[in-house]
Amino acid sequence: MTEIERLKTQLKRLSLHTMAAIFEEEAQTAAKSQMSYTAFLARLVDEEIAAKTDRSINARIAKARFPSIKTLESFDFAFQPGLSAARIKELAQLGFLDRAENVLLVGPPGVGKTHLAIALGLKACAAKKRVLFIHSTALLDQLIAATVDRSLGAKLDFLARLDLLICDELGYMPMDSQRANLFFQLVSRRYEKGSIILTTNKPFADWGQVFGDDVIASAILDRLLHHSHIFAINGPSYRIRDKLDRSKPPQEDKGVTSDDLAASNSSHLF
Ligand code: ADP
Ligand code: MG
Repeated sequence: MTEIERLKTQLKRLSLHTMAAIFEEEAQTAAKSQMSYTAFLARLVDEEIAAKTDRSINARIAKARFPSIKTLESFDFAFQPGLSAARIKELAQLGFLDRAENVLLVGPPGVGKTHLAIALGLKACAAKKRVLFIHSTALLDQLIAATVDRSLGAKLDFLARLDLLICDELGYMPMDSQRANLFFQLVSRRYEKGSIILTTNKPFADWGQVFGDDVIASAILDRLLHHSHIFAINGPSYRIRDKLDRSKPPQEDKGVTSDDLAASNSSHLF
């Protein structure tokens, strides 16, 4: 085994995969440019750290289970003039996570609630936060299943430990009392400890119907709203715009539903 092969193997044993991949070429460049030994080593270490950071962010994004990748940079704020770009960009600085504040995105379908929730979630992953994106129905189904197999405590512990929990589309399906109660438990566990981003098409006045019970709805709202940033997005549906604007090429994930059509006629839910 040559010295180079041996070094490559040793670096890999130390899990320094990027250094193993690049040291040979970097050594030649360093020799040509008469780089100091220290500068050469620093360069290898910098590259390894950059690659490891990238890998750890990608791992966090994978664990967060976003349904698609949507960024703040690709959000057209001009299309939603009622929404303060400055407030959203302030949230993207992530101070709200340290203060365990919640973000509530309320409005009809197609206005970009899920897009913004994912975009903020991605920023949190980039800042090495533990994030989970979950559809509210799936979340409650999982909590019910955990009750059945007696793992509810562990499940709630896991959900309480996340830096950011994103609950998408609360309110599309009315809940039975067991689901309402489980949601209350979850919100209570995270209250003042960790942030929730919640998207919903239901104004708060309708939450009694969503949870099937006014008392539990107001107990949930109390905790969610206490430290929170609320965005009522009542502009037009972006999905509908795409359908109506024939000059634009069709985009595949923007099918119009009956909900969208209803929303286009009732843009003011509040
Ligand atoms: P909602 O969750 O409010 O129903 P989505 O966030 O799913 O809406 O938005 C529907 C589609 O339109 C998504 O593909 C989203 O990326 C896109 N979209 C919505 N609003 C905007 C916007 N202002 N700029 C760019 N894309 C948008
Ligand atoms: Mg949505």
